[in-house]
Amino acid sequence: MLSYQHIYHAGNLADVHKHALLAWMLDYLTAKDKPLTYIETHAGRALYDLSADEALKTGEAKAGIAQARKWFKPEHPYARVLDRVTAEDGLNAYPGSPLIAAHLLRPTDTIHLAELHPREHAALELAMSPTGAKIHLRDGFETAFALCPPMPRRGLLLIDPSYEIKEDYNTIFRHIAKLHRAWNVGIIALWYPILTSRMHEPMLEALSAQHPDALRHEVRFAPARPGHGMVGSGMFVLNPPYGLSQEAKRLAADYNRLR
Ligand code: SAM
Repeated sequence: MLSYQHIYHAGNLADVHKHALLAWMLDYLTAKDKPLTYIETHAGRALYDLSADEALKTGEAKAGIAQARKWFKPEHPYARVLDRVTAEDGLNAYPGSPLIAAHLLRPTDTIHLAELHPREHAALELAMSPTGAKIHLRDGFETAFALCPPMPRRGLLLIDPSYEIKEDYNTIFRHIAKLHRAWNVGIIALWYPILTSRMHEPMLEALSAQHPDALRHEVRFAPARPGHGMVGSGMFVLNPPYGLSQEAKRLAADYNRLR
């Protein structure tokens, strides 16, 4: 039984990290006039209302995108998407990763989204049906295994689990190795939390040993609430696009100013 709901956390500092780097990568990929495939294993509902009770309850967006919006120049791809989404859906609207992809990709590109929670899946369908994205009510890794290698071969796979099942920390690196073998030219990006319990560390050690050329990028921030176990956000990217490391450094400087 899945209980995680991203609405409590949408627009927090981890989302800003993940979404800014995702938007930058998709913008980079679309600079070339060749179609691409975008796949997400854990899509969420794509459009969030930051004035909803759940979002207000945690206050994470208030400490997140509300503070971080000024870090991005208007021409940054993440800022461009935020501007379009708030113009279309109101000032409290916040785009999840599927909607960020839909805004930056082109009609010639293919989008596949997996979401297992029936309510999140229904909301995802509602938000994304006008975009032509293919939406799967299925386990995210099963979906990715079935799709990889996709056509077109160029593209990006985002893996953004909720880590509700602690076993995820033990299985993900094997899943990523299998996906990389199937789709060795694909960019594979994994988001992970930095935890005071350090539960993420063995997974990262295994990933780094397995993929020494991948980009590992982490930012640290204060816990959302006293005693909250997440104190940062990480992205592990296989086949990182040229320039991503520079962009990540720029973003990290903004986080460091916040601490
Ligand atoms: N990627 C989204 C974004 O950045 O906007 C947020 C995704 S949220 C962190 C994780 C999502 O994965 C939740 O909506 C949850 O319902 C879904 N989920 C959990 N287990 C899953 C599974 N095995 N397969 C697919 N989706 C799953």
